[in-house]
Amino acid sequence: MPQIQRLSQSLINKIAAGEVIERPASVVKELVENAVDAGATRIDVSATAGGLEMIRVADNGCGIAPDQLPLAVAAHATSKLADADDLFRVATMGFRGEALASIGEISRMTLRSRTAESPGGSQIEVHGGQPGEVAPCGCPVGTTIEVYNLFYNTPVRRKFLRTTQTELSHITEALTRIALPLPDVHFTLRHNERVVFDLPAGQSARDRIAKLFGDEVAEALVWVDSGQDAIRVSGYAALPHQSRANNRLQYFFLNRRYIRDRALQHALTEAYRGLLLVGRFPIAFLSIEMPTDLVDVNVHPTKLEVRFQDSGQVYSRLLASLRTKFLSTDMTPRVATPSDADPAQAIDEQRAEEVRHNVVDWAKGQMGGWSGGTTGGEASIWDRSDRTADRPLELARLDRPRMAEITAPASCDEDREPDDATPLPAATGSPALPWSPAPIERRPIAMQIHNRYLVAESDDGMMVIDQHALHERILFEQLRHRIESGALESQTLLVPEPVHLAPVQAAMAVENRELLAQLGLAIEPFGGDTVLVSSFPAMLAKLKPGEILQEMLEQIQAGGKAPDRRTLLGDLMHTIACKAAVKAGDRLTPAEIDALLAQRHLVNDSHHCPHGRPTALVFTRDELDKQFKRI
Ligand code: ADP
Ligand code: MG
Repeated sequence: MPQIQRLSQSLINKIAAGEVIERPASVVKELVENAVDAGATRIDVSATAGGLEMIRVADNGCGIAPDQLPLAVAAHATSKLADADDLFRVATMGFRGEALASIGEISRMTLRSRTAESPGGSQIEVHGGQPGEVAPCGCPVGTTIEVYNLFYNTPVRRKFLRTTQTELSHITEALTRIALPLPDVHFTLRHNERVVFDLPAGQSARDRIAKLFGDEVAEALVWVDSGQDAIRVSGYAALPHQSRANNRLQYFFLNRRYIRDRALQHALTEAYRGLLLVGRFPIAFLSIEMPTDLVDVNVHPTKLEVRFQDSGQVYSRLLASLRTKFLSTDMTPRVATPSDADPAQAIDEQRAEEVRHNVVDWAKGQMGGWSGGTTGGEASIWDRSDRTADRPLELARLDRPRMAEITAPASCDEDREPDDATPLPAATGSPALPWSPAPIERRPIAMQIHNRYLVAESDDGMMVIDQHALHERILFEQLRHRIESGALESQTLLVPEPVHLAPVQAAMAVENRELLAQLGLAIEPFGGDTVLVSSFPAMLAKLKPGEILQEMLEQIQAGGKAPDRRTLLGDLMHTIACKAAVKAGDRLTPAEIDALLAQRHLVNDSHHCPHGRPTALVFTRDELDKQFKRI
C-alpha cells in the first residue's frame, strides 16, 4: 500500500514556487510589487543574462526591521492581511505571503533592508530555501533584494526558459504593467548594465506610454473617461489609424493593478467594431477603479485574473465610455507625406499638431440621449441609433439605373469638365444636360474623379472620399436604424419566387428564417431543397430575390459554427449595405454627390466603412503648403 506522508516545507515551497515563479520576469514582478506596497517612490531593477544570472530590485520604501527579516522570507508570512475579511478588500499588490519564500527556495537570495528609524541596515541570505542568520550591513533606507542563479535547483524549469532576449522582453513587460498606472513612482530597468528604460516620477501617463511604446502610439491616443461613479473607467484609447496585429497593446488595470479579462477585451473589440479591419486589434490603456469589496482578486495565483461581482456593469461602462468618445471624435485619417528631411524633431512637432487636429471634437449632435448601455443589463452598441433617428432627413436611395441613365451619352462624358454641375458654356451650343431638369445654379460641393473618389474642401485642407465606402457606411447605419425601429421596408413579390438551393443551404435558410425576416427577406420552405421568397429588402431592389438569398446564405455560412445572432445580423447588414451602395466606377450626378456628402455628417462613424476601411482621407493645407514649398 502506498504510504501517505506530509510534504516537507521545502517541497511545499517548491510547489508554490512553481505556481508563482514561472520565469525571471515573475521574480521581477513579485519583488517590484513588494516595493510598491512598501510605498517606494523609486524602484531600480537590474538583471544580467535575462535574469538567470542575477536580478536586483532596489527600492526606497519603508524597509523591514531586523527582527522581521526571517519572517519576511518564511512561507505564509505577510504584513498585508490580518484576518479573512481583509481578503475581500485587498488594496495591496501582494497578500499571499509566499513570494519571497518561493524565490528563496529556488535561488540564492540576499535581502538587505533598513527602516527610517534604524541607524543601520541588516541582511539575510537564503540558499535553496535555507535561511541564514540576520547580520548587520550598510545600506540606505529601503530594501534591496538580489536573486542569483534562479532555478539552479529546479533544472526542469530552467530547461523551459527561452533566449536571454525573450526573458528580457518578459521582464520589460512585467515592469511595464506595474509602471503604467503608477506615474508617481520613478522606475528604471537595466540589463547587463545597459539602461532599458528610465521613467521619471511625475511623468504624464501619455509621456510614459510614449517612452514605453513610442511616440506614434502615444500621439494617436484619446482620453476616455466615464466620470466619477462607483465604477469609473478612464484612460487612453488609440484612434483607429494606430492598431496592431495582436492584442498585446491592450492594457487593463483594476485599482492600479494590471489584469487580464476576456469580457473587457470583448468590450474593447465591440467598441471598435467597424472602425478596424478584420485581424487588426485596438490599442488601449484603460483603468477601472471601484471599491475593493466589489471584486475578488484572490482567484488566480499571480492575481492576473479577477472576478467582478457585476461584470456586466463593468463591461457596459467600458463600452459606453469608448463609444461616447468615438462618436464625438473626428477619426478621419490625416495623410502625412513621409519627409525626406531630417526625421527627428520637426516631424514630431508636425505629428503632434496633426494629432491635435485629429482629436478636435466636432460633437455631432447631442450625446445626451444616448443610453449606451450604462444602465447595466445587456450592453449593446445598437443602443445608440437615436441620434440618426431624430433626423427628419430620409436618406435618398442612390440607385444605379439612374446613374446608368446619366452616363449616356458617352461622348458628352468624355468632353465634360470634371466639375460637371457647371452648365457648359453657351458657345458650345450644348443642350441642357439630360439629367438636370433645370439649370443647376450652385456648384456641387465636391468633384468626382475616376468615377470613384470625391474631392472636397475640408476645414483644414482637402478631403478625398471613397464614394463606395462612404455610401456603404450610410446605408449600414440607415439599415441598422430601420431594423431597430422595425421600419425596414421590404418589397413583397406578387408571385413568390421559388429558389433552388443546395441541401445544406436549404436547411440553413429555414433555420435562419427569423433572422432573414428581420432583414426583410421572407422565405418559406417549399418542399425538397426549394424555398419560396415572398419579400426582400427594398434597398436591394436591383438584385434578383434568389441572388439576395444566396448572398445572405453565403454570409451565414462564412460565419462558421453558431456565430452569435448579433454578429450574424451585423454581417448580413454589411452585405446588404455593400450590395446596395454605389460602386467604384459609378458616375454620380452633382445632386447625388451633394446628397452623399450631406449624409456624411448625419450618420455615426462616417469616417470608416462598416469593414473598418477609412471612407475619407484629409490632406491638410499645411501639408500641401509644405509639399509645394510655400512654407
Ligand atoms: P506578500 O507580498 O504577499 O505579503 P511576500 O513574500 O512578497 O508576501 O513578502 C512578505 C513580506 O515581506 C511582506 O508582507 C512585507 O511585509 C515584507 N516585504 C517584502 N518585500 C518588501 C519590501 N521591498 N519592502 C518592505 N517590506 C517588504
Ligand atoms: Mg509580495
